[in-house]
Amino acid sequence: MSLLPVKQSNSSRIYQVVIIGGGPAGLTAGLYCARSRFNSLLIEQGIIGGKITNAERVENYPAFPRGISGIELGQLIFEQATSYGLETLLAEVSTVVPGHRHNLVSTGEGDFVAESIIIASGSQFRKLDVPGEDKFVGKGVSYCATCDAPLFKGKTVAVIGGGDSAVTEALYLGNFASSVKLIHRRSQLRASKIFQERATAEPKIEFIWDTMVTQIEGDGVVKQLRLKNIRNDKISILQLAGVFVAIGSEPNSAQWRGLLPLDEEGYIITNELMETKIPGVFAAGDVRHNSARQAITAAGDGATAAISAVRFLSF
Ligand SMILES: Cc1cc2nc3c(=O)[nH]c(=O)nc-3n(C[C@H](O)[C@H](O)[C@H](O)COP(=O)(O)OP(=O)(O)OC[C@H]3O[C@@H](n4cnc5c(N)ncnc54)[C@H](O)[C@@H]3O)c2cc1C
Repeated sequence: MSLLPVKQSNSSRIYQVVIIGGGPAGLTAGLYCARSRFNSLLIEQGIIGGKITNAERVENYPAFPRGISGIELGQLIFEQATSYGLETLLAEVSTVVPGHRHNLVSTGEGDFVAESIIIASGSQFRKLDVPGEDKFVGKGVSYCATCDAPLFKGKTVAVIGGGDSAVTEALYLGNFASSVKLIHRRSQLRASKIFQERATAEPKIEFIWDTMVTQIEGDGVVKQLRLKNIRNDKISILQLAGVFVAIGSEPNSAQWRGLLPLDEEGYIITNELMETKIPGVFAAGDVRHNSARQAITAAGDGATAAISAVRFLSF
């Protein structure tokens, strides 16, 4: 998958829309902006397609009844957006200086002036940071039960974490898996009371307290976890088919601290039109407060942000 280099000149290049991030939100925003004949630049620091490229099979994105690989999905949206003239650049956006219809976007590849900006920089799941985790992503290691739970029908899985998201993931997995082990490094959950009650009442969920995962092992796919009890240092092996890491996520919003209102975790606050506090600056997808963190909702946010940007530029 190639990014089209934008030719540089000595002065900053001017775009009507600059989109930060090339995941489903950014690419969809780019499709809408370019198709509306606004000259638009999408800047991506890593892989076009964003996080969804980690998904071996996406089964819940409409129009693909037999599923599609995440890489192929990213490629298709990229082809569609660039076919309407979206320009793309491989670079990291380091800083943004907002100004009315004159936002200065700086990257290692030069500076750009944007009349409007769509922030679609996504978020990152916090990792366990244990051997085997990266190797088995998409092969038994998952960060999203909504995405992958149906793949574990009738199997044993583990959820790592103790907050609301871990318990929600465990409860959802209970609809598919035969057994869900909720592994937490403390002796009680941090999740809210109502979630704790529901989890305790769910017979498929078994709690493994005071325990951390030290290694994820397998043979092409995940087969077992190596666990350590932090009270007595006892090592044990848990055989299973899937492990869901639910220890939180972090938004890619560092450049916006002090410029835009963020929630307590750093996610960007918008209204339903994807407008931020700064006129002409929009946010879409997983970087946004209260995002459902799905490819289709990110794409929907991207479309809404683009429509709002087009309206902003048209008046
Ligand atoms: C393993 C896995 C499986 C998944 N499976 C599914 C599934 O089956 N179905 C589903 O609906 N969802 C799934 N998801 C979730 C889905 O991938 C995300 O919800 C979706 O990608 C969010 O899109 P986004 O565009 O908001 O952000 P992202 O996809 O995170 O894209 C943001 C992009 O912005 C770039 N970026 C960040 N900061 C900068 C910067 N400063 N400068 C330039 N670029 C920057 C990043 O490199 C990234 O490419 C899965 C996620 C993972 C990790």
